Amino acid sequence: RACVVNISTGSKEFDKILGGGIQTMSITEAFGEFRTGKTQIAHTLCVTSQLPLQMGGGNGKAAYIDTEGTFRPDRIREIAERFGLDSSIVMDNIIYARAYNSEHQFDLLNEVATRFAEENGVYRLLVVDSIIALFRTDFTGRGELSERQQKLNTFLARLTRISEEFNVAVFITNQIQSDPGAGLTFVADPKKPVGGNILAHASTTRLSLRKGRGEQRVAKIYDSPDLPEAEAVYAIGGGGIID
Ligand code: ATP
Ligand code: MG
Repeated sequence: RACVVNISTGSKEFDKILGGGIQTMSITEAFGEFRTGKTQIAHTLCVTSQLPLQMGGGNGKAAYIDTEGTFRPDRIREIAERFGLDSSIVMDNIIYARAYNSEHQFDLLNEVATRFAEENGVYRLLVVDSIIALFRTDFTGRGELSERQQKLNTFLARLTRISEEFNVAVFITNQIQSDPGAGLTFVADPKKPVGGNILAHASTTRLSLRKGRGEQRVAKIYDSPDLPEAEAVYAIGGGGIID
């Protein structure tokens, strides 16, 4: 039986509140305002997931589904250098796909699952940045909300299954209600994540990210059944997420 592996965020403080890093066989969701570091965390994980276990890694490859077009190979290279890894090997170990609509996002997930099955045990990370952006653009009206939630639910169920079947850490990013694109005329709680109960149910660990002083960022465990509501201060550097 495969055992759960913790993958480092790149920040010791951040890893501490997670109990060592983000875990395989589960979904970790990060939500927060723009520029809080969601995409930078995803980039860092693509590198740390490749590190040996004793260095806080997963000794595996990574897959990245990008719905916003914000994946940057140059960032990966710089982060790889920080950890003393060969940047071209690190890049070769990441399968990357850009999704253009929610149907496409489903198709790509199926392709990723096929790849995971073909190379069973080789992948340790799957990123979806962002989980919800395309669902929000594809299902806009109030009348489409239940269809959106249903599709999102199906997508998340597949992610859960993939994480367990292949012992992979799934890292997803989410928006907050006050983000542009919500299409809501009344926002009950602007700092809350989008997606309602469906995301709350699917994500094993939820992280609320916010800006701190200056370049500092703060991560907080949100509504966890098994982790304390601890906070960690981290920063974003050339080498990715740092203390
Ligand atoms: P959005 O909601 O817009 O997708 P996000 O939460 O994904 O935002 P990121 O793109 O991960 O935010 O983070 C952007 C932050 O990362 C910015 O504050 C930027 O200054 C910082 N950043 C990006 N690249 C570097 C770098 N090479 N060195 C230092 N900081 C960087
Ligand atoms: Mg982003």
